[in-house]
Amino acid sequence: MIVTAFDVLKIREDFPILKREVNGKPLVYLDNAATSQTPKQVIDVIVDYYSNYNANIHRGVHALSQEATDKYEQSRIKIQKHFNAAKSHEIIFTSGTTHSINIVANGFSSLLKKEDEIIVSAMEHHSNIVPWQMLCERTGAKLKVIPMSLDGELLIDEYYKLLSDKTKLVFCNHVSNALGTINPVKEIIANAHKFGAAVLIDGAQAAPHIKADVQALDADFYTVSAHKICGPTGVGILYGKEAWLNKLPPYQGGGEMIAQVTFDKTTYADLPHKFEAGTPNICGGIAMGAGLDYMNTIGFDAIAAYELELLEYATKKLLAIEGLKIYGTAKNKTAVISFNVGAIHPYDIGSILDKLGVAVRTGHHCAQPIMDFFKIPGTVRASFSFYNTMEEVDVLVEAVKKAKSMLS
Ligand SMILES: *Cc1c(COP(=O)(O)O)cnc(C)c1O
Repeated sequence: MIVTAFDVLKIREDFPILKREVNGKPLVYLDNAATSQTPKQVIDVIVDYYSNYNANIHRGVHALSQEATDKYEQSRIKIQKHFNAAKSHEIIFTSGTTHSINIVANGFSSLLKKEDEIIVSAMEHHSNIVPWQMLCERTGAKLKVIPMSLDGELLIDEYYKLLSDKTKLVFCNHVSNALGTINPVKEIIANAHKFGAAVLIDGAQAAPHIKADVQALDADFYTVSAHKICGPTGVGILYGKEAWLNKLPPYQGGGEMIAQVTFDKTTYADLPHKFEAGTPNICGGIAMGAGLDYMNTIGFDAIAAYELELLEYATKKLLAIEGLKIYGTAKNKTAVISFNVGAIHPYDIGSILDKLGVAVRTGHHCAQPIMDFFKIPGTVRASFSFYNTMEEVDVLVEAVKKAKSMLS
């Protein structure tokens, strides 16, 4: 029996969706790396916003606009404190990690020359590959890739060899969404800085499991999506050091981001507004702060310890299934298990699991280069959250066994 002080059954009471059935079976939600579920504490904040103080921010003199502005700015400060940014205007609200990365990639267009180099890791999400490829096309800069081992760990010595005075930017995820690997980002950043290169860390997959301290990491940029940390979709943040954010040109033009507009010349607003053109997802920004409040109430240390138990238990039970192979066996990983069973197509397993109420992701997980590396079309990915139980792991394992016997 696994003994844990973590009261997962009480936590599950906060998530209305976990009570529903799928195909006549209790839902077992194991697609948390794609999006997390929403506790009623966050749903209440969303209902309260639209019921009581929905208004545009930073503009109106009226009470509702003031209230909405206050709550939105309080949320920014909450997020600043959570990630330990030095200043609240270093937190830019965006529509999520993809948007955040594009702001930086676009901003560097005017700062790069043809002979410059950009380094990315071999285990990036497409949203941390494609914007840089587009940047290279615009500027002529070259993209270099940090290779990885068969365990799904970056080959850090190879990274050191890639670094040079030509390196201007380095991009790496903090945690891989496809393999669960926790990357040594502090080391990656410190070594890039020796060559004066800026580093963007994609924190989308780390934020649900690790409370990152952007100052301790010395990250130049850090990106997060709210929907993976108990918040709503379509909102997230870009953290950037003040000096970098001042240096980069704005990404989009429009309302909110200007200081003064005439037809001759427009001057831009100060941070953070320079990067926040148009009416933002106000409710989403407020709800993102509520999601972090919720997770902090449980505590990130408790979450990490419990998820590690889930990971160890699930890994052991899954590996007992003959023919099952796990991709991503790094020593340091979060509770993500990517696997295949023999030569059975991951989609076929996923479909049978769905019939049994088990929600997993199948396919390339927006990381096709990783699948090419392992020479597979994709994997079945079970990704766990702090609200999953050991019993749900058992349901998953039985469902995989059933799928295997039906398909082989
Ligand atoms: C989810 C995820 C993204 C993309 O986030 P969006 O919210 O879709 O913009 C990027 N990188 C990683 C590692 C992710 O897990």
